[in-house]
Amino acid sequence: MIKVVNLNKEYKSGVKALSDINLHIKKGEFVYIVGESGAGKSTLVKILLKEEVPTSGEIYLNNINITNVSNRRIPYIRRNLGVVFQDFRLLHNKTVYENIAFAMEILGSDPKEIRRRVPIVLNRVDLGRKASSFPDQLSGGEQQRVSIARSIVNNPPILLADEPTGNLDPDNSLQIMKILNDINTRGTTVIMATHAKEIVDSLRRRVIQLKNGVIIRDQKRGGYDE
Ligand code: ADP
Repeated sequence: MIKVVNLNKEYKSGVKALSDINLHIKKGEFVYIVGESGAGKSTLVKILLKEEVPTSGEIYLNNINITNVSNRRIPYIRRNLGVVFQDFRLLHNKTVYENIAFAMEILGSDPKEIRRRVPIVLNRVDLGRKASSFPDQLSGGEQQRVSIARSIVNNPPILLADEPTGNLDPDNSLQIMKILNDINTRGTTVIMATHAKEIVDSLRRRVIQLKNGVIIRDQKRGGYDE
């Protein structure tokens, strides 16, 4: 599903953020990417999202090489990869409903399908009653749930979450993890970069640990530490 081959990233500053990364993530997996600050997690996420260009190496999405795709191909990536960020990144002048609908509009979805689909994903994150609220009227946990609903509204096979609980308290984090786990159980591949030790230790899944840009561990049902 996602294959990363001999990936390297050196920033212009000379920092080698990723060194010879090789990864194979299969359909339906739940994978944590862990490592201390500066390990290279965000760089890897950004490269997968095509927000950064690797120095060398290749990335395949469903056997299609997306390393050097043109902007024309970006919708293909958007359709396949839902994304959730630590800071939610919601549009503050749009309601909850509109934020989610917008993710479908930019892919050219049929308005009827949008009206059908948005309430379904809002209920999936238990926010059906907040459709007409604005993000600023919601708690952090609720905003992150909106962001998750938005990330899955186009039914992407893969969900990429970058520190999704980073700004949340333990109760809200737990709720977010239940939702991500539920999404994974329904068949979506989930890749989550995190340094939340309690979460990784309690909900055991595959753990890929980075240190100084190198994979130092790739373990089935691992904990945060070895
Ligand atoms: P993490 O997400 O694990 O904290 P990052 O991927 O942000 O790690 O950073 C990996 C390394 O790359 C760090 O040494 C960081 O300082 C460096 N780095 C990250 N982004 C940039 C950038 N835009 N320019 C230069 N160096 C960067």
